Amino acid sequence: MENSSEKKIKLKNNILEVEIDKKDLAVSVHDIRTGIKWEMQKNGPADIGIEGHAGPWQGMDFSSAQQIKWEGNKNLQKVTLSHWPYRSNVWGPLDFAVEVVFQIEQDTLKITVSTRNGRGEASFIDSAYPRGFLFPEKTGGKLILPYGQGCLLDKNFPVILDHTFPAYACRGFVMPWWAQITDSGEAIVGLPETTDDIAFRLVTDETYGHTVHPWWLASLGNFRYPRSITYKFLDKTDITGTAKIYRQHAEKKGLAVTLKEKSKDRPNVSKLRGSIIINIWHESWFGRFRKENVWQRMSFAEGLKRFKQLEKDAELKKVVVHVDGWGRKGYDCLHPDILPPDPKLGGWQGLEKMAKEIQSSGHLFLLHDNYVDIYADSESFSPEVTVLDLSGVRPENDEWLGGRQQWLCPQKTMKFVRRNLSEVQKHLHPSATYLDCFTVSHLRECYDQKHLSSRGQTKKAWSEIFSFCQKFGWATSSEGGADWAIPVLDFCHTVQPENCPFDLQEKLNGPLGIPFPLYALVWHDCIVVPSWIEQDKPGNSFLWGILWAGIPSVRPHGFDCNLKPYTKQSAEFVRFLKPMQELSEKVGFEEMTGWKMLDDKGRIQQTVFSDETSVQVDFNSGRYIIDGKTFKSPKP
Ligand SMILES: [Zn+2]
Repeated sequence: MENSSEKKIKLKNNILEVEIDKKDLAVSVHDIRTGIKWEMQKNGPADIGIEGHAGPWQGMDFSSAQQIKWEGNKNLQKVTLSHWPYRSNVWGPLDFAVEVVFQIEQDTLKITVSTRNGRGEASFIDSAYPRGFLFPEKTGGKLILPYGQGCLLDKNFPVILDHTFPAYACRGFVMPWWAQITDSGEAIVGLPETTDDIAFRLVTDETYGHTVHPWWLASLGNFRYPRSITYKFLDKTDITGTAKIYRQHAEKKGLAVTLKEKSKDRPNVSKLRGSIIINIWHESWFGRFRKENVWQRMSFAEGLKRFKQLEKDAELKKVVVHVDGWGRKGYDCLHPDILPPDPKLGGWQGLEKMAKEIQSSGHLFLLHDNYVDIYADSESFSPEVTVLDLSGVRPENDEWLGGRQQWLCPQKTMKFVRRNLSEVQKHLHPSATYLDCFTVSHLRECYDQKHLSSRGQTKKAWSEIFSFCQKFGWATSSEGGADWAIPVLDFCHTVQPENCPFDLQEKLNGPLGIPFPLYALVWHDCIVVPSWIEQDKPGNSFLWGILWAGIPSVRPHGFDCNLKPYTKQSAEFVRFLKPMQELSEKVGFEEMTGWKMLDDKGRIQQTVFSDETSVQVDFNSGRYIIDGKTFKSPKP
């Protein structure tokens, strides 16, 4: 006993008893209220990642440090680790230091990792410490993961994982946090304090099941600044409880601006409640997708005519009209030099008429635009404005309808936004905007010394663009739900449920774990999240939208560049979605105050909103219940 206590550093208050192994920094947290013990994994892939100036990247354990010095008291301990046996530094061990600070306060443990310079031809790059906390072996438990819309993963879900998901990417962790909860309600909530350069490693321990921990990513190539995470330990909670803890944490960081607050400043936002997004696609060159040279066009006048027909046939009262493929050469082409609207479609004049008539009926009108991609055939395409990556190249893509493309440096974006959108405002006075990609891809770095951009600077630059749009009074939207944007973003394309890592798709043939609306449980009162519903393949999308009380977003036949004719079926399809609009009208701006699963497979789920509206969805039967009344989901 005495021997083991000599190896441990102790922190203690009246809730937590924390022991830290002096050498490998494995932490064990004993929750005095419940007796439960959360033990940290003994090893990880890289407590520190070092890269020699003449040697490779190498992940090292803290236990390999040859000098370790502890100092502190029962609430705070600091360890300084140095003399790393990095062999590519042939003259001797590296003497730069890593400092780790452990601090307890009530039911929280905060861990901060930072670096201190020293001699040695090597740099501290990244860190995957703290390693994951393990569920007790005999206890059942689940991980609560903001993977897409949300994922509930049993600790013994039968798959071997070692997957590191980036923060803020649509198929990654859309929000930077996670939780682990036992079957009896004891929980840990992981709340990173520094969130610009972070990914989350989901990993399987053979005995204790799955766990998660942060991976502090290099910022512009190295560690740069201290990284910090707070773990909150709970003696009794549920899944909703963990989501609300993240919400409070995000509120302290100023992220939680509600839709009701946003509506006060910009009345256009209030029109999102109870609306439906109708996407009208005017022009594209389909050579890329169809391997043949096909232009497809539908004039603004024709789009307007069909919209008015749909408005009448489906009795639409509140619509967000989202206009795609309106620029000089149609969809995705020539960004950021897309002005003027294609004269073949009707030019400024045709688009002006469309915007005016649609908005005079009280609907929102917006143009789909993009300031993340820059196309090779645009006049502005130049190394002066494109992203240079870590490998010293300007990365390219040739996947979208616009053809060859690179990425616009976030530091060079505002001048194009200002130029284009001021012109759009002058001609059209739209009521909203859609700026593609910003909130669905990760925060992008640029290594060009003339226009360097860290992820933090990228986030700031992109936020300023949404703020610029808000000054016009526009309701703002982008593609995904990355929650750094919540203060400046009113709605998005969607936050996708039912995700699965690409390399497990064949094995799982379905989602990872149980998909559930975790994102809505945190953010429903701050951002409108539509459910994208395909007329031909709706899948579960209607039921998901009902469950999280979103709005439908559709591109009915006849609105897709004239690929299919407008028929009465398009109107029928849209009319079927009315119940979702009605629910959104009622609770669209309310907080989601509760979620639970009513079976063990998550096929029957229930949500509750702050006005006590309760929604139950059964993915097996297609039935759903709102406030006790049963409905059958439509079959378009
Ligand atoms: Zn740049």
